[in-house]
Amino acid sequence: MSIYVHGSATPVIMDIEDEPGKTDVTDFIFFDACMRCGRCVASCPSAGAKEPFSPRDFVQSMRHKLWQEYSPLGDIRFMSRHEETQIDENYWYCTTCRACLEVCPIYGATFEAVIKKRVLAIEEGLKVPKLLNQTLEKLFNYDNPWESSKRQRGARAEGLDLVDLSNRGTTADLCYFVGCTTSFDDTAQGMARSFSKILQTTGVSFGILGKKEPCCGDIARRVGELGLSTEQMEKCLDLFDKYDITNIVTSSPHCFHTFRNEYIDAPFNVRHYTLVLWELIQKGRLSFKKEMAAKVTFHDPCYLGRYNRIFDEPRQIIRAIPGVRLVEMAHHGADSLCCGGGGGRMWQDLNGEVKMGEVRIREAVATGAQILITACPLCRIMLEDARKAAGLNEMLRVTDLNELVLQALEGTEVEELKS
Ligand code: SF4
Ligand code: SF4
Repeated sequence: MSIYVHGSATPVIMDIEDEPGKTDVTDFIFFDACMRCGRCVASCPSAGAKEPFSPRDFVQSMRHKLWQEYSPLGDIRFMSRHEETQIDENYWYCTTCRACLEVCPIYGATFEAVIKKRVLAIEEGLKVPKLLNQTLEKLFNYDNPWESSKRQRGARAEGLDLVDLSNRGTTADLCYFVGCTTSFDDTAQGMARSFSKILQTTGVSFGILGKKEPCCGDIARRVGELGLSTEQMEKCLDLFDKYDITNIVTSSPHCFHTFRNEYIDAPFNVRHYTLVLWELIQKGRLSFKKEMAAKVTFHDPCYLGRYNRIFDEPRQIIRAIPGVRLVEMAHHGADSLCCGGGGGRMWQDLNGEVKMGEVRIREAVATGAQILITACPLCRIMLEDARKAAGLNEMLRVTDLNELVLQALEGTEVEELKS
């Protein structure tokens, strides 16, 4: 099983199953180059939320462990200063947001090492958080991490009269891969309905896979369950092959990233929905007649922005809506702050002194925007929850870009906030 090593200047493939039970020093040579500058700590949302995890300490403890494993004498100088250092189990806190890589002077992909540690923990069955184990069991049993029956997958499409590409004799130019969270979570389901309505309005020929749609394997991969993520990948590839699916659009940046970068030599084209909407706008097939007076800010999802460098298209879509004014948060683009939902954190109960989502919500409120827009079901849920938990319901709305676009298309006014 190979994955791209994002920390490499040029993408190379790292085999993370090569040495079960062993940490391969050659995969993570950057441990020894770490100069302990702490830039990763300053950018890490987990450390920022005062959770018990520090990427620098993780790298240093891994370095210590590697010297113990691979050097006959160990690194005496290092050990004398870090005698008590242990590799702790707090790497489950990492959201794999990639923010540390953006600032690290040696371009060290800490999160890749975190995933490798998780692979080893899962293989050995050691100290895997209970909730996470339960989530993986659900994924195995139900083909989604939400423990929902497959029959419910099509529920959000009720009344929309969508083409089901898994029905005999049906075809369409585009397959809308809805994704587990967008299918099953009440908050995120609005994204699927909005996107479907936008595509219908613009006359795009599209269909869904209905009850047959499997999980893409993102969650399993991020938490180190490579066997299960491979199974999910094979299910998807078999299904795409069976129904002749070669052109896919996803709701979730996580499905998009997994299909685009981790299905090696995949015989299909995949785009995130923001790329499709922007293309429709550029071609004149999607336009807005009425003004929508609103001040908004955009939260860059990690797997859309930092992982796939899609920063401009969502902003171009927002700017195409007449009357909408986009203001930026203190952290935006490559410097965006994680909502706390990636890397399997959505399905774990790990807390710090504050919630990552709350840190982000307060940044959004500080801009004076009425609406915080995102383009990911996990961000949508995490930020909505954080807004409620922080008691900021009257200060800010949270919505997905699909929902905003549909509102603009339908000429719906933005509700006034109380303050
Ligand atoms: S930013 Fe890079 S070099 Fe600096 S402490 Fe973190 S891992 Fe080490
Ligand atoms: S990937 Fe994100 S959460 Fe993980 S160590 Fe880096 S900055 Fe922290």
